[in-house]
Amino acid sequence: MHENTDVLIAGAGPTGLTLAVDLARRGVPFRIVDQAPEPAAGSKGKGLQPRSQEVFDDLGVIGPILAAATPYPPLRVRIGAVPIWQARMHRTAAATDAVPYPTVLMHPQWRTEAVLRERLAGLGGKVEQSSALTGFEQDADGVTARLGTGQSLRARYLVAADGGRSQVRKALGIGFAGETREEERMALGDVRAEGLDRDHIHVWVRPGRGMVALYPMAGTDTFQMLASLKPGVTPEQTLSGYQRILAERSMLPRVRLTELLWSSLYRVNIRLADRYRSGRVFLAGDAAHVHPPAGGQGLNTGVQDAYNLGWKLARVLAGAPEALLDTYEEERRPVAAGVLGLSVDLADRKSYKRGEDTYQLSLSYRGGSLARRGGDRVPDGPLPLADGTRARMFDLLRGPHFTLLSPDPAPRVPGGPEVRAYAPAGPYGGERHTLVRPDGHVGISTSSVEELAAYLAMV
Ligand SMILES: Cc1cc2nc3c(=O)[nH]c(=O)nc-3n(C[C@H](O)[C@H](O)[C@H](O)COP(=O)(O)OP(=O)(O)OC[C@H]3O[C@@H](n4cnc5c(N)ncnc54)[C@H](O)[C@@H]3O)c2cc1C
Repeated sequence: MHENTDVLIAGAGPTGLTLAVDLARRGVPFRIVDQAPEPAAGSKGKGLQPRSQEVFDDLGVIGPILAAATPYPPLRVRIGAVPIWQARMHRTAAATDAVPYPTVLMHPQWRTEAVLRERLAGLGGKVEQSSALTGFEQDADGVTARLGTGQSLRARYLVAADGGRSQVRKALGIGFAGETREEERMALGDVRAEGLDRDHIHVWVRPGRGMVALYPMAGTDTFQMLASLKPGVTPEQTLSGYQRILAERSMLPRVRLTELLWSSLYRVNIRLADRYRSGRVFLAGDAAHVHPPAGGQGLNTGVQDAYNLGWKLARVLAGAPEALLDTYEEERRPVAAGVLGLSVDLADRKSYKRGEDTYQLSLSYRGGSLARRGGDRVPDGPLPLADGTRARMFDLLRGPHFTLLSPDPAPRVPGGPEVRAYAPAGPYGGERHTLVRPDGHVGISTSSVEELAAYLAMV
C-alpha cells in the first residue's frame, strides 16, 4: 500500500526547505523527509546574498531573518597581537529603490533553516525526520520511493535536495565531474570564546602553521571557527583539539575557547552534476553542485534552485506542458557553473574582498527557451499605476502568481496560471505587455497579445 503525494522532497537542508515552503504556499501536495533525527546544527553557510534576501522576502521569511542577521563586521588580520590588515569584506551600501537588500548578511545556517521550518509549519507543512529515502524506482507516471521507516510512497516527482553526497544522484548514475582538493581541508566549528570582541571577524595567520578565523555569529553569542589544515593532519574534534589550533595560530593565551557546540571537517570539492533531471527526478542544491565556501554561494545557489523549480513543478502538476520542467536544468546549471568558477577564483586568489559578482542580483535567464525578450531579474522600485495609485514593484510581485504589467487585462488562457495584471501609468506604461514570472524574472515582453497568450499557454 503506497501513500500518494505530488512531490517528494528528499533532504531538509536550506534547498529542500525553500522548495517545501514554496510548494506549501502554492497548495501543492508534497512530503519532505530527512534522514537525520533532528534539524541540523552548525552555522556552515552563513552569508545571505542580496538576491536570496529578495527570495526570502517573497517567501515571507525575511522579517525573522533581518531580526537576527547583521552585515559582516570588519575583518582584522593579525600575526599574534600585531594587526597586519583590516577591512570590510563587502562594500557597505544603502538600500536603493531598485535594490532594497543591498548588503550581504551574516546569519547562521541552522537559524536560516529554523526560520524556513517555522514558516513551513505556519503553512501546515512539517519535515519528517528520521526518514531517509532508501530507494526509488520511476515509471512513466511517477516515482515509487522507500523510506528507512519501512514506508513506501508514490509521488509524481522526486526532488533530491539530499546534499553533496546525494544518494539519489548516485543511484541515477549522474556524473559529478570536478575535483576534490584534498590539500584544502578545513576544521569548522561553532564555539564560545573568551577574550575576543564581537565587533570584528578575527583572523590570525602564522607563517608555516596556517590560518584560523573566528566569525561572531549574528544573533548568537557564538563564533564560527574556521582553520586551515595541513595535508594528513586531522585534529581532535574536541574543545581541547580546537583550542590547540587556536593557540598555535593566534599565539595569544588570553583568547580561549570555552565550548565547542558543533564541529566538522570540511574538504573543498568543486563539482557539477552532468544533468539536473532524470525523468521525474530532479537534483537541487548541493546534490547538483558543490564548491569552495569562498564568496558564500553554496546555500544561496541552492535556495535559488528551489525557487526556480517550485513554480515550474506547480504549473506542470496543474497541467502545463512537461517541457517547462526541462527549463530548470537549462536555467540553473549554467548559473551553478558560473558560481563554481567565481568561488574557485575567490578561493585561489586568497583575497577576503568580495564584490557585487557574489550578490547574485545580475543572474539572468536571458537567451533561454523561457525568455522572450526577457530573462532578467525585475528590480524593485516605485511604480505609478494608471488608476492614480503608486505601487512598489516587489509588493506587486510578492506571492506565487505571475504579474502582468500591461495596458490591457491578462488574456484568458484556459488552464493558464494565475496572473495579476496592473496597468502602469504614463511614461512607465506604453503598449508593451511585460509578464513577470513567479520567481521575479521577466518571462516575456511583447506588444502582441497573441504572443503573450501563447506564452501563458506554455507555462
Ligand atoms: C561543513 C560544511 C561547511 C560549510 N561552510 C559553508 C560556508 O562557509 N559558506 C557557504 O556558503 N556554504 C558552506 N557550506 C555549504 C552549505 O552549507 C551548503 O551549500 C548548503 O547546506 C546546501 O544546502 P542543501 O539543502 O542543498 O544541502 P544540505 O544542507 O547538505 O542538506 C541535505 C539534507 O539532506 C539530508 N539527507 C541526505 N541524504 C538523505 C536521504 N537519503 N534521505 C533523506 N534525507 C537525506 C541530510 O540529512 C541534510 O539535512 C558548508 C557545508 C558543509 C557541509
